[in-house]
Amino acid sequence: MTSMAESRPSPEQLSRVDYHPPGRGWMDTRPEFRKGTYCYSALPKNLKYLGLPNPREWQPFDADWKLPPDWKTIILNGMRERLERFRSFRLFMDICVRCGACADKCHFYIGSGDPKNMPVLRGELIRSVYRRYFTLAGRLFGRLAGGRELTEDVLKEWFYYFYQCTECRRCSLFCPYGIDTAEITMIGRELLNLVGCNVNWVVEPVANCFRTGNHLGVQPHGFKDSIDFAVDELEELTGIRVEAPINRKGAEILFVVPSADYFGTPHYFTLLGYLMLFHEIGLDYTFSAFASEGGNFGLFTSHEMIKRLNAKIYAEAKRLGVKWIIGGECGHMWRVMHQYMDTMNGPADFLEVPVSPLTGTRFENTRSTKMVHICEFTADLIRHGKLRLDPSRNDHWNVTFHDSCNPARALGILEEPRYIIRHACRKFHEMPENTIREQTFCCGSGAGLGTDENLEMRLRGGLPRANAVKYVREKYGVNLLACICAIDKATLPPLLEYWVPGVEVGGVHELLGNALVMKGERARTTDLRGEPLQATSQEVVHA
Ligand code: SF4
Ligand code: SF4
Repeated sequence: MTSMAESRPSPEQLSRVDYHPPGRGWMDTRPEFRKGTYCYSALPKNLKYLGLPNPREWQPFDADWKLPPDWKTIILNGMRERLERFRSFRLFMDICVRCGACADKCHFYIGSGDPKNMPVLRGELIRSVYRRYFTLAGRLFGRLAGGRELTEDVLKEWFYYFYQCTECRRCSLFCPYGIDTAEITMIGRELLNLVGCNVNWVVEPVANCFRTGNHLGVQPHGFKDSIDFAVDELEELTGIRVEAPINRKGAEILFVVPSADYFGTPHYFTLLGYLMLFHEIGLDYTFSAFASEGGNFGLFTSHEMIKRLNAKIYAEAKRLGVKWIIGGECGHMWRVMHQYMDTMNGPADFLEVPVSPLTGTRFENTRSTKMVHICEFTADLIRHGKLRLDPSRNDHWNVTFHDSCNPARALGILEEPRYIIRHACRKFHEMPENTIREQTFCCGSGAGLGTDENLEMRLRGGLPRANAVKYVREKYGVNLLACICAIDKATLPPLLEYWVPGVEVGGVHELLGNALVMKGERARTTDLRGEPLQATSQEVVHA
């Protein structure tokens, strides 16, 4: 049996990218479903569970995708409906001038050299069909007007390339017209969903989330076991038994995290950091066993699915009678919260505008959603001198920060995590400026692509991110990449293991938990991972 390491292409192979376009025109170049570059199809049981169309056994490499007989009509009707419903979609179909400013901004193009991974051409995949069927010029002149027929090959091409876009929105930053190719991808995926062409790594988490409230399908007792385990572990580490209430009615705050925080590594260390922080400041909060997932894979499926999955958060806030909500370190959860939640499932008039009980800060920026990012909350505590931190406890970490795409570009959380890191650590170095903050490079595995079967494409797509990490690794000896996204925490470790061995991945609240001096704690000898502390001074800094 071949091991994963043996089956991976070598860095030399991956770096020999051929940037020459194929001899044939792009409209006639069919996608090649090569192992390692695509995701497996959704299992019929998951489609059935969600009531999604055309459940069947098939795989992308099959010649026959077993589409419904009227698939073309379904897709074109779906396009028409979305052109009427989403003005942005129609606008993005009409206004691209093909200037190419976005072309080299996509990590998948940089890593693969495939011209159809240039955002401009990714958009053209669907725009060409739009022109052919929905514009006069396209109907009259076809290819001469940039239009093309919708065929099965075109549909397969959509599937291949819309599942090679992580909806990261980096390209939109550089487009002079503000065209958001991520939104084009979202519509492309919605249309594919109408005829049952979806990937299992997206649909299974959606089905799990719908059934139990979280992507992993963890049931309420499993959720409680996991939180209880964390409480026990923290007691061993600090000598303090924290409380971690679940479904407690009448709490002031509902706390929602991505499920990986209580079941994955290194996410789990971030969870420990949250629990320590909330105990130390005596926060009146509760988890919910049903809103046990902040992440929303509906974002990678359809607008309807975003709404269906997101609804549980306000429903649980209402049931538990909380005043406002804090959300943990997650990526696309924040895109959904910030850009969709209020209009899809709000207005949340039954909640109050969040006010920190410790500092009195009123988070006016969350007036519509009533949901505060944990980094905003913690940075505010530090700013008001409410935490005692010993940054020397993180001296074994030489840290850089990866801006996760959605908190950075969709939410604008840029300063707060850095502020926390600078107070919790003594060694921090930024990656080059065109690879961080709004211009951050994606992990290459978001939007439901973080599965194993497409590992080659993930390693290619993650190359620009890894390259910037390599720079600070070589220049400053960085050994920890901190981030605030659950998908990043799951997918960056294999990426770095491959491209930049020796750099670990961790959460910002893991670093905070290491540094946090708790009242009555026993002298700490290890960090939250159980690694021995380097520090000898145990110097306490009143932040
Ligand atoms: S930058 Fe904008 S207008 Fe220019 S090619 Fe890209 S999507 Fe089109
Ligand atoms: S949204 Fe991100 S992955 Fe998609 S085309 Fe733009 S840069 Fe590439």
